[in-house]
Amino acid sequence: MGASAADRREELIALYREVQACQKCPLHATRTNVVFGSGNADADLMFVGEAPGHHEDQQGKPFVGAAGKLLEKLLADIGLNREDVFIANVLKSRPPGNRDPQPEEIEACKPYLTRQIELIEPLVICTLGNFSTKLLTRRQDGITRVHGKPQQHTVGGLELTIYPIYHPAAGLRSSGMLTTLREDFERLPELLAAARPEPEPEEPPGGSAEPVAASQLGLFG
Ligand code: URA
Repeated sequence: MGASAADRREELIALYREVQACQKCPLHATRTNVVFGSGNADADLMFVGEAPGHHEDQQGKPFVGAAGKLLEKLLADIGLNREDVFIANVLKSRPPGNRDPQPEEIEACKPYLTRQIELIEPLVICTLGNFSTKLLTRRQDGITRVHGKPQQHTVGGLELTIYPIYHPAAGLRSSGMLTTLREDFERLPELLAAARPEPEPEEPPGGSAEPVAASQLGLFG
């Protein structure tokens, strides 16, 4: 059996402490705060963005600026909030001036994201934009081509669904993108439902896992 949710949560907290001290790439010198990720440590649904921006760097929390407000609104539209999901980024430190993440920064930070995924054990990872999509699908297809199309992958030893969608910041720039983002987002509940394992058949009263003869069932009514 895998580790319990409580044990995985403890390990996630230990990983958080490790990332706080990380100096594996030059971004440690310019960051205000590490942005580890936040939300439900046992979430079925995880979001992975690109990198912290100014507000995230200031507060140490992912998606707290304008793009984050849109993400919260899209979540609310499907009946979820931030506490139901886990939100992380490819990079845990802000690139100066919000420039694109560099390949060596992505490589240095990748083990942290992989470990987060191993510990949270999500069923569906929604990748936001090009950087997280390319990293987790290990393909070079751009987001315009792959958005809204679920893919099955093995990440950190887990079989899961990766669902690429546009980055919320793109939805803030163009009304066409926002419409597409909304449409893609609306499919998330159905993808989650499809990814959830079938419930175990109920045990007979008394907790016996042995099959009970039909003639005996009435005895436990
Ligand atoms: N954009 C991202 O990709 N991540 C954040 O945390 C904020 C904005």
